[in-house]
Amino acid sequence: MSQTITNIAPLHENYNAYTSDGVLLHLTNAMGQDVHQELMSHGRWVGSAEALDLARMANENPPRLRSLDARGERLDQVEFHPAYHALMRKAVSQGLHYSVWDRSDDEAGQRHLRRAYRFMLTCQLEAGHTCPITMTNASVAIFLADEALARDWLPRISTRTYDSSNKAPGNKRGLTVGMGMTERQGGTDLRQITTRAERAGSGANAGMWRLSGEKWFFSAPMCDAFFVLARTDKGISCFLLPRLLPDGSNNGLRIQRLKNKLGNQSNASSEMLLDNAFATLVGEEGRGIALMLEMVTLSRLDCAVSSAAQMRTALAEAVHHARHRKAFGKPLIDQPLMERVLADMALDVAAAQALTLRLARSFDAAATSDAEGAYARLMTPVVKYWVCKAAPALVVEAMECLGGNGYVEDGIMARLYREAPLNAIWEGSGNVMCLDVLRAMGKSRGSVDAVLETISQGMGATSQQTIDVLRITADMAMADEGSARLFTEQLALTAAAAEMRLSLPPMLADAFVESRLGRPWRHTYGMMDARMDARAIIDFVLPE
Ligand SMILES: Cc1cc2nc3c(=O)[nH]c(=O)nc-3n(C[C@H](O)[C@H](O)[C@H](O)COP(=O)(O)OP(=O)(O)OC[C@H]3O[C@@H](n4cnc5c(N)ncnc54)[C@H](O)[C@@H]3O)c2cc1C
Repeated sequence: MSQTITNIAPLHENYNAYTSDGVLLHLTNAMGQDVHQELMSHGRWVGSAEALDLARMANENPPRLRSLDARGERLDQVEFHPAYHALMRKAVSQGLHYSVWDRSDDEAGQRHLRRAYRFMLTCQLEAGHTCPITMTNASVAIFLADEALARDWLPRISTRTYDSSNKAPGNKRGLTVGMGMTERQGGTDLRQITTRAERAGSGANAGMWRLSGEKWFFSAPMCDAFFVLARTDKGISCFLLPRLLPDGSNNGLRIQRLKNKLGNQSNASSEMLLDNAFATLVGEEGRGIALMLEMVTLSRLDCAVSSAAQMRTALAEAVHHARHRKAFGKPLIDQPLMERVLADMALDVAAAQALTLRLARSFDAAATSDAEGAYARLMTPVVKYWVCKAAPALVVEAMECLGGNGYVEDGIMARLYREAPLNAIWEGSGNVMCLDVLRAMGKSRGSVDAVLETISQGMGATSQQTIDVLRITADMAMADEGSARLFTEQLALTAAAAEMRLSLPPMLADAFVESRLGRPWRHTYGMMDARMDARAIIDFVLPE
């Protein structure tokens, strides 16, 4: 005899990820009707049972390496589940891999911001497939450094068609691009790269190079081409490496194995042997690292947006559970301690969303405003540092809010838990972000002052003491590298507070300032006293 069980939270599906996002709704308030409609439609898809199922399937059925065919001939291909391809198709159709480079009037002046809105929703659904999407978008910065390559490749990268066929790039309707820097002996310290590049010779191969070496982390290895770093006699240089040659044969890219990763299961990350592979030199010989950093800067923005999105998903799951589950006679959300924990997390989610979108805005304005250019340069590592580091702790706390149901693989929390640390590791780990902050300050102290001025204006009249503390911490970091995390975190929190003051209701900014800037270092969530309206904060960030 079956017993009717009550007090079970319904599945969190068939919601609209845009209209249920109080922060994003507020931040897009002044945008035109076309933006709302686009986000409304995308948000509906992201929260649909169908899309959530695609995300689940893409992760439960990770990519498989097919090294050899039935005859023992090398294949070096990775096979993805159809759900992964469906997610890729959707992302490409929305231009997440290219729209910031479009020339059309549609998103002029706000291309990064508009893409970031869409990307934030997409990453709430599934993060793994966005790896090649991010890399393709970022790769365009390097293509543009070489007119001939740009002319040849961009028309087929810019299409809104995802083409997963295993054909030479010239025969495809859409292309994706990856990057290969990291080697076993060094990822952060790229000066240790040993992959060699030799001139390929004369005749048909004149001007080409051949690459030999091993890349230790080489994600999305089914991309059509990769920007890779390799050493020539003049130093480390940047090369464009197609996966297949014009006749469709493999260009000497041998996939040794796929990484057995903690998370990020839908995405393939490989160990790649480059066996005399043909490549084209991009930019100046010996200046490859500097060129590659242009690509990396764009992917750092995406890492931060993606982590903000993961934080949002985790919080949404926690609040959904707490609204529907009763304990000791009332919904969990009405239990004072749970209410404070959720509200405290909601503050970080709102801050991460506001700060990452603010950074995207500075990318749009950098070309026409020195102050915004300074903001983009200094704040990219700062925002990546803080948001990507905030995500894992928040996901863990959100998981706890779901109790035992949070700790099983059937739900989304386990996947988020595994995914959350990654954005802090790749594209420059935490310490490297802090070193980059020091580098930016060392190059132009004036730009730091410009950023502090921008933040101070956002913070309003009461900001002087906070800005003074930041200046002292900046000086300290310049004199003592080991203290750079102090400055980086403090700057991130202050910039987030400034953006919240400017663009979100005072209730959120006040609570954030009071709890994050007004007190010494904190370690867990729920550190709010009764002066803050916890329920109003939750209901704003996640309207019912
Ligand atoms: C899932 C996944 C996919 C990846 N995909 C790609 C890819 O497609 N292409 C690619 O090129 N790479 C890829 N990577 C590699 C990634 O970018 C590197 O792992 C990362 O850059 C760190 O390099 P490392 O692993 O060699 O660590 P290390 O360089 O050994 O660094 C270890 C730690 O030391 C810290 N550190 C380094 N220098 C200093 C210093 N001077 N002071 C203080 N601390 C320091 C770092 O912050 C880091 O925390 C991927 C990694 C992962 C996990």
